[in-house]
Amino acid sequence: MRGVRKENLPEKPCAVCGRPFVWRRKWARVWDEVKYCSDRCRARRGEAARGGGAQDLVAGGGASRATRSGNST
Ligand SMILES: [Zn+2]
Repeated sequence: MRGVRKENLPEKPCAVCGRPFVWRRKWARVWDEVKYCSDRCRARRGEAARGGGAQDLVAGGGASRATRSGNST
């Protein structure tokens, strides 16, 4: 029997896509906080977390800025 065993690294399922990802060195300190396999999944999660808040983000809004010019005393 041949067991191909790599390293004994821990792994977790991604909270978004469900794919298991393996411990990485760069996560050594934050492994406990890592929940997503990639930044994409993390971003996705962020979008989904905001349920029904389409009006939360308002782009623009420069109506309060009046143009003031020509102020003579
Ligand atoms: Zn993922």
